[in-house]
Amino acid sequence: MNSEKPYTLSQTLLDILACPACKGKIVHVETEQKLVCQGECKRRYPIRDGIPVMLIDEAELPASDSSRHSPSAVS
Ligand SMILES: [Zn+2]
Repeated sequence: MNSEKPYTLSQTLLDILACPACKGKIVHVETEQKLVCQGECKRRYPIRDGIPVMLIDEAELPASDSSRHSPSAVS
């Protein structure tokens, strides 16, 4: 019984991966072939040739939510 598929990351690997930016949990989104941070930063890391690229410089930031910025909170 060989259930190995290409470009499928093992749960063991996902368990040891952590977001380099915020140390958050990483989830593999197979439909997008991206590793998405479930922590604070929500960065999206690419997978190239089946290898997770856990580099902050390579990560996509989530769509910015400008409503989170509250100028009145800055004193
Ligand atoms: Zn993160």
